[in-house]
Amino acid sequence: MNTRSISFRLTAWHAGLLIGVFLLLGALMYLGLRHYLEENLGETQLRRARQIAGTLLVNAQPKDESNIVIEIKSLYAPETNDRFIRVTRADGTMLYVSGRPKDQSFDAAGLLPLAAPEKESLRKQVLPGGKALLIAALNQGSRYTVEVGAPTTGIETMLAQLVRQLLLGLPIVALVAVGGGYLLVGRALAPVEQITRKAEQITQHNLSDRLPALRTADELECLSRSLNLMIARLEDALLNSKRFVADASHELRTPLTVLRSELESLVASNHATPETLGSLLEEVERLAQIVERLFALSRLDAGEAQAEWVPFNLAELAATTADQMNLMAEDKGITVTCGPAAEIIVQGDRARLKQVVVNLLDNAIKYTPNGGSIRLTARSQNNHAILEVADTGIGISAEALPHVFERFFRVDQARTGDAGGAGLGLAIVKSICAAHGAEVEVESRPGQGSLFRVKLPFGWKKSAG
Ligand code: ADP
Repeated sequence: MNTRSISFRLTAWHAGLLIGVFLLLGALMYLGLRHYLEENLGETQLRRARQIAGTLLVNAQPKDESNIVIEIKSLYAPETNDRFIRVTRADGTMLYVSGRPKDQSFDAAGLLPLAAPEKESLRKQVLPGGKALLIAALNQGSRYTVEVGAPTTGIETMLAQLVRQLLLGLPIVALVAVGGGYLLVGRALAPVEQITRKAEQITQHNLSDRLPALRTADELECLSRSLNLMIARLEDALLNSKRFVADASHELRTPLTVLRSELESLVASNHATPETLGSLLEEVERLAQIVERLFALSRLDAGEAQAEWVPFNLAELAATTADQMNLMAEDKGITVTCGPAAEIIVQGDRARLKQVVVNLLDNAIKYTPNGGSIRLTARSQNNHAILEVADTGIGISAEALPHVFERFFRVDQARTGDAGGAGLGLAIVKSICAAHGAEVEVESRPGQGSLFRVKLPFGWKKSAG
């Protein structure tokens, strides 16, 4: 038996409590009954003593004493009624004392009279044989002391019977307490077992299964709901990662196919021109870029514990990056403006945040036709550093807009040439932003241009790990 299990502990607590209450009630009943019976017996003895004093002794003269003895004997017959009666004079001499009762159950001959009894008193006296007498003593006008007593045997018998009955009831109560507790706890914990059994069956192959939905309106229902939500999140994560691997393999396959066919025709013709070699190099470049981006994403997913976290000026980072990329823009006759020049100090991984600016600017240049313009803005607003990249490019349709940050998403899926990448640039932007507690959003109108906005909170602390 597992003594640390919840069911054992709850059952033990339930049984212990019931048995404790039973014993406490039994003890109270025992004490209450004893008190009640003794008081009753004492009261009866007192009443009799008062009767003897009030009727036989009140005006008694020494010459009447022999009559008094006769009357006590005939009226109260103490020996026959198992009673003890004694009348003592004020000088200590005995007027009358009853003998042994008929059944010889006690012998009160050796009992000493009370030295100076109060007006009325009650006492319990244990006799040499172990029997106890409850004796009422009464002082009659300082002339006589009347004592009337009766054995407490009846009370003891009744109390012993009560104890016997209680002891007999105890195992029954214990059995009911343990059995009832076990059943109750078993029923209460049955859903936990159901959940455990189902949870043990769930593997990565049946993650779409759910734990039984409990309708107990208690902590167990909350637990089953939370666990189901957790399984749903795991299922999502697993699906995403499967899709990521499938998409990545697909993306890598295209340039590899191109490379292979170009290399095959090279082998067939046995003649390499600078153009074919240049084209081969381009495909290799493309492959390298995809692999580099996949690697960047998986490092971001893993949390990148060793990333450097430093304060730096975001406005200056934006301006220098724009400068470095200006050549690309100039090739297409696109003007890039950057401002304002005010210092904005943020905390973060400078190289990664530079990657954000590069990816956004790269897209803006890629998707803006010749002669267009791009504006890069860095400012602070409401405890956030804001970085905006606005272009006058082709824009993004309303249907595509919610998906642009997804991995491998391209508005024009067919486009794999120079203009389009593998659809990983914005996914990387989003992951870097998430690592900095930042949000990235986009507004766009097809044919008019797009605006990408990064909101970086100033007080963000790098999470551990
Ligand atoms: P890619 O490497 O294909 O550019 P991204 O993740 O950077 O992938 O972008 C995803 C898609 O979002 C792109 O294929 C493009 O269709 C669209 N997009 C991104 N930036 C812009 C922009 N500034 N203007 C228009 N379309 C854009």
